[in-house]
Amino acid sequence: KDHLLELKELRTSFFTHVGEVKAIRGVSFHLDKGEALGIVGESGSGKSVTSMSIMRLLQHPGKIVGGEINFNGENLIDKSDKEMQSIRGNDIAMIFQDPMTSLNPVYTVGDQIIEAIVKHQKISKADARKKAIEMLNLVGIPSPEKRIDQYPHEFSGGMRQRAMIAMALSCEPQLLIADEPTTALDVTIQAQILELMKDLKNKLDTSIILITHDLGVVADVCSRIIVMYGGIILEEGRSEDIFYNPKHPYTLGLLKSIPKLADKEDKERLIPIPGSPPDLLKPPKGCPFAARCEYAMKVCIDKMPEYTYVKEDHRSMCWLLHPDAPKVDSINKNLK
Ligand code: SF4
Ligand code: MG
Repeated sequence: KDHLLELKELRTSFFTHVGEVKAIRGVSFHLDKGEALGIVGESGSGKSVTSMSIMRLLQHPGKIVGGEINFNGENLIDKSDKEMQSIRGNDIAMIFQDPMTSLNPVYTVGDQIIEAIVKHQKISKADARKKAIEMLNLVGIPSPEKRIDQYPHEFSGGMRQRAMIAMALSCEPQLLIADEPTTALDVTIQAQILELMKDLKNKLDTSIILITHDLGVVADVCSRIIVMYGGIILEEGRSEDIFYNPKHPYTLGLLKSIPKLADKEDKERLIPIPGSPPDLLKPPKGCPFAARCEYAMKVCIDKMPEYTYVKEDHRSMCWLLHPDAPKVDSINKNLK
C-alpha cells in the first residue's frame, strides 16, 4: 500500500562559502492518511530543513542532493516550481512558529484567508467569505463574522495562530506541516492550540507533521515520533514506546529535559543535555551523539551504528543495542 508521504534516504545540504553543510544525511520515514507524526530534536537537528525540503521551500544555498520525497506516490523532487506551487496551495500546507511572519499586517485576516481560498478553489468571493467564517469558527475564534474584518495586530498571539491554522486548512490540504506552532505562545495558549490540532485531525482527517524541540508537546497529538539529531533519525517509534520504552540515550536525555508540569512556566529548570550538536560541515564519522553521550564507547566514535529494530515500528540507531555490546548495569536500567 502506498503511504501518503514517504521519504527515502533524503539528503539536503547547504553549499556555503566554507564548504558543504550536510544538514540532512539520509532520512527515511513515512506517514499515512489521517496520521500525526512528531519530529523532535534540538535546533540544528535537521527537523526544519526536512520540512522545508518536503515543501521544496529551501532557500539558496540549500539543495536536496539525494533521495526521494514521495507524496501520493509521486516524487516531489521531480516537480517543477509551478507544480510545487499548486501542491503547496492544495495538498500540503504549512504553519510556522510566528504567525506575524506569515500574516500580512496591512490586510485584514479575512482578506488573507479569502485570497487563499479563491486562489486555489474555483468559488466566488462571497462563497469564499462564507467559507472563511466557517474556518475561523472551526478553529475556535469567537464572533468570526466580526473578527474576519479585523487586522492581525487586533488578534492576540493565540488567536493569530488559530487564524493561521484556519488559513492553512482552508484549502483542505491532505497534509499539514506545523513547525514549532506553539513555541512563541504561553503555556495555557500552547495547550489550547495543541488541543485544537488534535481536534482538527480527528474532524478533518488531515495528516499532520508536528515539528518541535519539546518532546512534551507531541505526546498528546502524535501517535508516532521521530527523534532527529545531527541530520539523522536516531530513534523512531510509537509515542508510548518513545515515552515509556526509549532505546536511545539521546531520547532519554530529551525525556529528562521535559519540565515537570509544575515547572512548566519555569523554563530555567529544564535539564538540558550538556554539550552541543555536531558540526555538520565536518560530520563525525561515527555516532553523531558520541561527543555528548555518557555511554560512548570506542566503536561509537569510529563507526556509525545501524538501526536496530526493537519492534517492527520501533527502531534505534545505537551500538548499545548491538548483540555484542557490553551489558552495563546503568545502561540496562535506563534502556532495557
Ligand atoms: Fe551513545 Fe554509542 Fe549509542 Fe551513540 S552509539 S548513542 S555514542 S552508546
Ligand atoms: Mg526550526
